[in-house]
Amino acid sequence: MLEIRDIDVGYGGLRVLQEFSIRIARERPAAVLGTNGAGKTTLCRTLSGLLPVRRGQILFDGEDVTALGSAERVRRGIVQVPEGRQVFPEMSVLDNLRLGAFVHGEPSREEIAEVHALFPILAERSRQNAGLLSGGEQQMLALGRALMTRPRLLILDEPSQGLAPKAVDQVGEAVRRIAARGVAILLVEQNLALAEMVAEHAFILETGRCVRDGPAAELLSGDALAKSYLGI
Ligand code: ATP
Repeated sequence: MLEIRDIDVGYGGLRVLQEFSIRIARERPAAVLGTNGAGKTTLCRTLSGLLPVRRGQILFDGEDVTALGSAERVRRGIVQVPEGRQVFPEMSVLDNLRLGAFVHGEPSREEIAEVHALFPILAERSRQNAGLLSGGEQQMLALGRALMTRPRLLILDEPSQGLAPKAVDQVGEAVRRIAARGVAILLVEQNLALAEMVAEHAFILETGRCVRDGPAAELLSGDALAKSYLGI
């Protein structure tokens, strides 16, 4: 469903992604793993249309989306949960959720009820300010908000960041439930445990290049070389 072909992306004179290529199938949740500075956020922002590619192509369901702006990509179902969650702390949990639906207008009761069924905590805390939620709960809210935009591909930029291991497990469970509803998943992470929970296929990103890929179970648990790329 997503094919990235040989893309180069950078900032000024700095070349970050270099001849980067991966392919992702809808039914196989994928993880891109890389250490600090490997280019993970750059990749996410590029897929969302926030950074231009200098070379190469991005295909989504066979269509070339390389030149499309971020709003059009969201309309087509390419949705990102950004690094650091970016919930609006002074707004209620419910209003944060509603914001996710803005591309399609006012959300229906059914849409909100669906997200509440997936994340009961968001129903329980509906009227509270989002800033009062714990980090893990805010990540649930960021996931719920992204679901309101009716994604076909969900790109997750380091959702484990700043979370305790138990909260990371909860995020992993939540992402699995989203994948089970037919949403394609691209998890971009340095947390191996979360990638193992979520991904069927994994790619190793090292200084802007995809240096290795394979079934997540093999690549992440058994492969000493892959682990050395991740500095484990
Ligand atoms: P982290 O895990 O620390 O968030 P990352 O893998 O997400 O790292 P990126 O944020 O994509 O890495 O950064 C890749 C490289 O690009 C780094 O060398 C970084 O300093 C550089 N970089 C990122 N954003 C910019 C920017 N706006 N201008 C210039 N250089 C940047």
